[in-house]
Amino acid sequence: MATGTTTLNGIGASPGIAIGRCWPVDRRKVRTPKRRLGPDEIEPELARFRVALEISDRQLEEVRQKVTATEGTGASEHTAIIDIHRLMLKDEMLVLEVHKLIRDERLNAEWSIKRAVRKIKGAFAADADEYFKERRADVDYVGERIIKNLLGQQVDVEELPPEGAIIVAHDLTPADTALLLHERKVGAFVTDSGAKTSHTAIVARALEVPAVVALGRITTLADKGDWIIVDGTQGVVIIGPTPAERADYEAARERFLVHERELLRTRELPATTLDGATVKLAGNIEFAEEVPSLLNHGGEAVGLYRTEFLYLQRDRLPTEEEHYQDYRRVLEALAPRPVTIRTFDLGGDKLPAGLKAHAENPAMGLRAIRYCLRQPDMFRSQLRALLRASVHGRLRLMFPMISGIAELRAARQVLNDVRDELAREGFDHPLPPVGIMIELPSAALIADRLAREVDFFSIGTNDLIQYTIGIDRQNKDVAYLYRPLHLSVLRLLKQVCDAGREAGIPVSMCGEMAGEPLNALVLLGLGVNELSMNGPSIPLVKRVVRAARAEDGRALVARMLALTQADDIEREVRDEMIRRFGALMEHDSRAGSVPG
Ligand code: PEP
Ligand code: MG
Repeated sequence: MATGTTTLNGIGASPGIAIGRCWPVDRRKVRTPKRRLGPDEIEPELARFRVALEISDRQLEEVRQKVTATEGTGASEHTAIIDIHRLMLKDEMLVLEVHKLIRDERLNAEWSIKRAVRKIKGAFAADADEYFKERRADVDYVGERIIKNLLGQQVDVEELPPEGAIIVAHDLTPADTALLLHERKVGAFVTDSGAKTSHTAIVARALEVPAVVALGRITTLADKGDWIIVDGTQGVVIIGPTPAERADYEAARERFLVHERELLRTRELPATTLDGATVKLAGNIEFAEEVPSLLNHGGEAVGLYRTEFLYLQRDRLPTEEEHYQDYRRVLEALAPRPVTIRTFDLGGDKLPAGLKAHAENPAMGLRAIRYCLRQPDMFRSQLRALLRASVHGRLRLMFPMISGIAELRAARQVLNDVRDELAREGFDHPLPPVGIMIELPSAALIADRLAREVDFFSIGTNDLIQYTIGIDRQNKDVAYLYRPLHLSVLRLLKQVCDAGREAGIPVSMCGEMAGEPLNALVLLGLGVNELSMNGPSIPLVKRVVRAARAEDGRALVARMLALTQADDIEREVRDEMIRRFGALMEHDSRAGSVPG
């Protein structure tokens, strides 16, 4: 048992508070023995390797069956990952390389696997991108499974944790996460490694189990049975809390749950203001698995599906069929509600395997639509899949990072060509509504002209603020300058909303600014028609909208535009929001956290 209290800070990967007892899942790296084989040991060693591959495959098949038997949200993502792992067991790069090392270098099977895994991982671009880290982790999982089977060690989680346990692991395989989540309601996940986009984090978020990752050394600090507090909202973990801390967090957890339940009471009601203005509240998703959570929170549409994750999840480009199946799934799950799917925003520092290129200034470089137009085959394959999938629901197609008319027309040209090509193949359907992201000042400034050529706008404030104020959105040093209510941003937002209204096209907002309850009145005042955000942010924004008057929003915007400094504009908004919605503003996104 750990003595005393230890507080660790990691990455809050899934919000909420859990208090429970530590249940370690041993995921320590296996020690791989190295041995030189005698001439007559080669054939038996090849046979040992073959048997270990067979056992590994059978184990994965068993895990897969358990996952599908308890089919729930997220299961298909998991079965897909398990299938990839099974394919890796048959991958020539692995099998032939191990055979070669056993035969030619007379190395034992365990060490040969270790060497082969290292070689395969080297084939993935050696960069710090977390998606590639995940893919390299998959190869590690598979290699480790075979080695453990060669050594006769335990491979999968065998003993299941009690309900509410805090799962503590160095890292979890997707198979572990799937099993733990589908067979028991665990309290939380905490891991030494991982990132916000690692599979554990995604599945935890989708199933609304708190998680903190990247804690560094929690596995060495917490013992089985220790009490642990997990604050997935703040990314804090406390091992061996004092009675006072436990009481504080119990109370915070209760507040969080009561607050969640309370907010969800209006889930089915529309986001209509007291003076009758309705704004659609939609969700941003990156994976199809997030759809149930979005619907549970009252999402009325998908306002932004960031499709680049389809490319970043695998070590090769997705096929047209893979695109199609994925879009079809989301469209069908939402139907008859609309789904806005954005064509891939890859480029700069987000590139799929094999297409890695170094760029000095990635945010300003070949990204999003620029990259799509430079890689027409990739772009066409996605567009073909989107048009084919459009018959399964209400698709709205959106291009990212449009900087001007010529670029928009070029993208539309490719889309028209693809439509004609499909029509020649017998698929003759009208195009879905086509919109663009407004996330560059150049686009915002000519929004009136762009509005004549598209069916809708969606304002991407994350980038719009970055490019307007000239601050890298990832750079902590200049984060203080990142002000959504800077007068320059406000003027651009107004210009875009006015242009949309005059042209009679809807204007959506899908940057993080849309999900911040403090901004709700301002956005109503600007006349934004749809706000798209993370599912869990929807209920509180809805509550504010339902208690507000659009008229007050317009008056507030007029006062803001008369001010100059961001500090003054922000104060004006905060004061107004606290005056009008005091109690609701206290329940911000950190509701339920412990002060201090
Ligand atoms: C944005 O820029 O606001 C946006 C929603 O797109 P992303 O965050 O994917 O760049
Ligand atoms: Mg963007």
